[in-house]
Amino acid sequence: MTPCSYVKLPDGSVAIVKHGCRGLPPCSVCGGRAGKLCDFPTPKGSCDAPLCGSCARRVAPNVDHCPSHPIAQQALALGGA
Ligand SMILES: [Zn+2]
Ligand SMILES: [Zn+2]
Repeated sequence: MTPCSYVKLPDGSVAIVKHGCRGLPPCSVCGGRAGKLCDFPTPKGSCDAPLCGSCARRVAPNVDHCPSHPIAQQALALGGA
């Protein structure tokens, strides 16, 4: 049983059915099922963009970033400036 499912309607469109889905919103990159949140530090806090397992860029254990963030800043963040 999946928490969310897609249902194809007779007219060809697709409806998203949520069965009490408490999961994350879709991956901000590909729209797939997100399982992580971006931990990239921003001036306002972490980015928190939802990311799926294949789009998230793991930079450390339990630390995942959007693939669009610059790597140089990751190094700075992880360096404990
Ligand atoms: Zn994705
Ligand atoms: Zn991000």
